[in-house]
Amino acid sequence: MRRHITAIVMIGCTAATVYFTGCNNIATGRLYSEKRVAMGTFVEVISCESRALYIAFDEIRRIEKLLSKYDQNSEVWKLNRSGRLKASPETFYIIKQAKEFYTLTNGAFDITVGPLVDLWGFADKKYSLPSENKIKSALKLIGSDKIILHEKDNVIQFEFPGMKIDLGAIAKGYAVDCAVNRLKDAGIKSALINAGGQVYCLGSKFSKPWKVAIRDNPNNPSRDKYLYLQDKAVSTSGDYEQFFTDKQKVYGHIFDPKTGYPKPADFFSVTVIADDATTADFLSTAIFVLGEKDGLALAAKFKGVEVKIVRK
Ligand code: AMP
Ligand code: MG
Repeated sequence: MRRHITAIVMIGCTAATVYFTGCNNIATGRLYSEKRVAMGTFVEVISCESRALYIAFDEIRRIEKLLSKYDQNSEVWKLNRSGRLKASPETFYIIKQAKEFYTLTNGAFDITVGPLVDLWGFADKKYSLPSENKIKSALKLIGSDKIILHEKDNVIQFEFPGMKIDLGAIAKGYAVDCAVNRLKDAGIKSALINAGGQVYCLGSKFSKPWKVAIRDNPNNPSRDKYLYLQDKAVSTSGDYEQFFTDKQKVYGHIFDPKTGYPKPADFFSVTVIADDATTADFLSTAIFVLGEKDGLALAAKFKGVEVKIVRK
């Protein structure tokens, strides 16, 4: 059983639930909305323009094909299998970005957590508490400083065999940003994309901001709070959705790369509002690992970022 929240610092949320109050397509008064499974989660696109749906889903599918560690044709899958890859400029870019986030967070944000995610059973949902020895062995493979980037030919190389990257903390946000850019290219001014809690609100709905519901108690939806957003991204990280319990201890899916254990957080969830979804996605995960003090100090380095934390 999860512990009850005893204090709420600010508004908090589970995977942000999106509500809308009517987009009011001028011609038809109609709002188009579709939910599909992509990037290992549910992705929802809402817009007054029906073409926004296929434009956004096509783009998200394109990014998934590059970055999914489960798709045997993806670049990330190939890199994880062989330890070396001549990557597309896009895959190279996002991995380079993730390495910069690793440096910026002193190693708290680390896409090389792949072996830990596998070891603890979060990849195949066969959860188990590993032995100390196994955790120690896995830790030898962790550290984004062990990813070597050859800028001149976009080659990505792992220093040690067995290393694996997992872009679960950043790829959805990046995919949302790419989809938003495609919508803008197509002249679409109003849409909302929600990729498993990574949300971007493009434009407004008849001069009203999009309404995004956030939950301050996962056991009590009646306590939802609302954000009103326009041209903003929002992301939530927490250990309440993907976790298992062993001897009444909760083990969530976000790891402290220094210990090899799921991060025992003081708080339930972190919500970040930012100008783009990649930053929001990265920051919410990083703050969850860093904790409140260091996490808020990190967020303060980014312009226009707002953080909302729910304490346990
Ligand atoms: P998010 O839901 O965006 O907070 O991302 C959580 C996911 O990121 C996990 O399910 C793992 O796949 C991966 N992950 C876990 N721990 C870390 C970490 N310390 N740094 C980066 N990615 C992580
Ligand atoms: Mg994230």
